[in-house]
Amino acid sequence: MMKIAANDLKRQHDIYKDEYNAKAVDVLNSGWYILGNEVKEFEKEFAEYTESKYCVGCASGLDALQIAFRVLGIKENDEVIVCSNSYIACVMGITMNNGIPVFVEPDEYDNLDADKIEDKITENTKAILAVHLYGQSCDMDKIMDIAQKHGLKVVEDCAQAHGTTWKGRKVGSIGDIGCWSFYPTKNLGCFGDGGALTTNNEEYANEFRVIRNYGSKKLHYENDIIGMNSRLDELQAGLLRVKLSHLNELNNERLKIAERYTKEVNNPYIRPLQTRPGSNNVYHQYVVHSEYRDELMEYLKSYEIGTIIHYPIPPHLQKAYEYLGYKKGDLPIAERYADEVLSLPMYNGMSEEEQDFVIEKLNQFKK
Ligand SMILES: *Cc1c(COP(=O)(O)O)cnc(C)c1O
Repeated sequence: MMKIAANDLKRQHDIYKDEYNAKAVDVLNSGWYILGNEVKEFEKEFAEYTESKYCVGCASGLDALQIAFRVLGIKENDEVIVCSNSYIACVMGITMNNGIPVFVEPDEYDNLDADKIEDKITENTKAILAVHLYGQSCDMDKIMDIAQKHGLKVVEDCAQAHGTTWKGRKVGSIGDIGCWSFYPTKNLGCFGDGGALTTNNEEYANEFRVIRNYGSKKLHYENDIIGMNSRLDELQAGLLRVKLSHLNELNNERLKIAERYTKEVNNPYIRPLQTRPGSNNVYHQYVVHSEYRDELMEYLKSYEIGTIIHYPIPPHLQKAYEYLGYKKGDLPIAERYADEVLSLPMYNGMSEEEQDFVIEKLNQFKK
């Protein structure tokens, strides 16, 4: 039998292996490992890729979120609108600044339902976090309109959306700040942890640079504020430059796999997630919904086909957020999605035979 993983990073690595290896050796031999030329060049190239004026590297996607809300002045009692089915890091970025996450349920595209935002706005609301989950964009027209009307800041979580566009514009440049993760499984993943912030606001960009480096404008020893150590390192930045130069090809390969799933999986028990008109989809995950999700997952496992649930427990029901006082039933759509969603195998380097096999088994699934 063919064993198919939900994700296989080695396959992706092998596609441009020689280029990564050459770059790694270069950086190691350079004698400079933190905040040097590779980071500077990557920031320039990624700003260009995301159509943003500024990009500042940092150590992870969570750090990017934490820094973004800090720079926007989020503090105790400030409320931030966030989707109820988001990844936990989205909520932590808010609460690490002592802000209060206010959950809004997702729409049929599994992303923040913009039509439900205004009901949740109070005098304490300061910002909206638009998470472009699974690889497609939120409705940024509606979100930006609401933000403008109520004087709110908009942070985009683009950790799953490298290359995603909204009406032709790259995400991460539409709101006030874009937050990026380069965790290895992301569409633009590095070989360890990494992250970045993008913005068109020069003051914000300067603040990001100070915060990520111990609150110091200079490289060393003059600390204006209490900062963090959250730097993207030279090795990761160098490797990211290699991958960024191939990102469009990598995203196209994912798109081809996704198009096969969409076209060829025809099973009344499996409902593929649709893409919102106005957005493209870089298919960070190919997500299906099924009332019989757990059975489907077990069934696929019996054929050695790996799948993942993104995410099995919504943030409001996590132990870490008990103090917010939510209980089961409070956010029924997010809770239902947590029981229904399944991410199919999706990775660069997935063979046609593997795709055939997954599609065949999905079509044979019965209740
Ligand atoms: C991966 C991810 C993050 C966090 O990124 P890290 O680099 O792992 O800290 C944040 N938000 C979303 C939506 C993610 O998928």
